[in-house]
Amino acid sequence: MSDHPRRSRPIETCRFCSGDLLASVFDTVFRDTEADERLFFAIPGALCVPCRQLYVDQQLIGILGLDGARCTFAIESDRVLQTGNAGQAPAA
Ligand SMILES: [Zn+2]
Repeated sequence: MSDHPRRSRPIETCRFCSGDLLASVFDTVFRDTEADERLFFAIPGALCVPCRQLYVDQQLIGILGLDGARCTFAIESDRVLQTGNAGQAPAA
């Protein structure tokens, strides 16, 4: 069922709707606590296709200074080819 060739996917299914997650790289917009919109490109993450919930590694959120920010837009990036998986957390 889930014999994807990708290695060490940190999340398998959406915690809200149990939908399948699309692990990829995304161009995103985050709205921070001051309601400023900030764009980030080529963010590795996992998108729930049914409910549009984007999962981003918590450590990466901290690095980007996005604690408390909300993702308001995410689209799968077409500018990054499937090269290695930079910064992906090892499966626990
Ligand atoms: Zn979902």
